[in-house]
Amino acid sequence: MITEKLALHGGPKTIAKPFKRYNPIGKEEVDAAKAVVESGVLSKFLGCWEPDFYGGPKVQEFERACEKFFGVKHVVTVNSWTSGLIAAVGAIGIEPGDEVIVTPWTMCASATAILHWNAIPVFADIEPETFNLDLKSVEANITPYTKAIMAVDIFGHSCDIDALMEIAVRHNLKVITDTAQAPGTFNQGRVTGTLAHVGGYSLNYHKHIHTGEGGILVTNDDDIFDRLQLIRNHAEAVVADKGVGNLTNMVGHNFRLGEIESAIGIEQLKKLKGFVEGRQRAAQRLTDGLRGLSGLRTPVVKPGCTHAYYMYPMILDVDRLGVSREKIHSAMEAEGVTGLAQGYANVHLLPMYQKKVAYGSNGFPWTSDICHRDVSYAKGICPVAEELHDKTYLGFEMCLHELENEDVDLIVAAFKKVWSKIGSEL
Ligand SMILES: *Cc1c(COP(=O)(O)O)cnc(C)c1O
Repeated sequence: MITEKLALHGGPKTIAKPFKRYNPIGKEEVDAAKAVVESGVLSKFLGCWEPDFYGGPKVQEFERACEKFFGVKHVVTVNSWTSGLIAAVGAIGIEPGDEVIVTPWTMCASATAILHWNAIPVFADIEPETFNLDLKSVEANITPYTKAIMAVDIFGHSCDIDALMEIAVRHNLKVITDTAQAPGTFNQGRVTGTLAHVGGYSLNYHKHIHTGEGGILVTNDDDIFDRLQLIRNHAEAVVADKGVGNLTNMVGHNFRLGEIESAIGIEQLKKLKGFVEGRQRAAQRLTDGLRGLSGLRTPVVKPGCTHAYYMYPMILDVDRLGVSREKIHSAMEAEGVTGLAQGYANVHLLPMYQKKVAYGSNGFPWTSDICHRDVSYAKGICPVAEELHDKTYLGFEMCLHELENEDVDLIVAAFKKVWSKIGSEL
């Protein structure tokens, strides 16, 4: 029996000092960046068909190191994973008006990358175990216009990639995986993120490893590899000299990663395995500590899969607990547990989709002839994702903190204290 009052009601706070901020950057990265600055070559890309079309020495060294680390035939680095997703959708040959099935539980860029090529995002629901795409909902959303599936390995756990690829083969679709939150994880011994037609990872500052901004595209497909590089680097100015016959989506950008970022990335990649294992240890300690708290579901890890715990996702059985998520959240925050998130994105509910205003002001592409049918983004199309967001999902943002064992034990103590007051103080 915990006799102390909840901090929410004036009792002592369980956690007095804030957790240490996650910072994976060390001396190796500083030295690597300094050497590039001193060399004077901060980028070497040229947007024309010359050897420098492929970038400078650090870009290429980083790409070869990533190929080895992720066990994939080709890697193309980019200046953000948002850029990477745009390049991926273009490279698989998506046409205006094509439908691409995507999860609503993701960072908005997964869906925006589809719209970028004037294709139509179609949101399928998620399953509540791993919060990844629900296969039944994916199948139910396939129409004659569907050309691809954008799957996300959300929070650090692989989607059901084998089943998705099987659906894709059956319906002649391409699959893109967004593994921004699950680098360095495995699904049946295979590297998460490398099992679709094209996939990749983010290098932004709150992912497991980072270069400030950046992204890593991976593919085993030679043709997609070529096209990713062209879209990254001014395709339209390169295709003639390179002898590219298929001009589909050869609309270029400057998505090139710099030499400094690449040099930092080389060092970060060496540390990724250790960082992921550190997260896994903290998460396991948290799960062990929280075991037995009624109405609290800790993360599910599917057989044969590993979890990178970008987020530590939980579900509250609010009916059984008889108290709202909001109340539990405020009690936990008062105890000093920062980084607890009530709900997660439901991308289809963003104003862009609700109002169908994206390019220009008149509803393009939805109102144009290229859009084959009236695609709904109404509340209710993804009931599982929506209920989790509105009512039951509670995420601990492990990506924000560097947690020592003592920190984890304090978080457990805060949960236990709050739980012991459900029905009395709460
Ligand atoms: C972080 C993230 C992105 C975007 O990556 P950036 O490198 O910030 O552009 C896309 N998808 C998911 C799931 C992410 O977590």
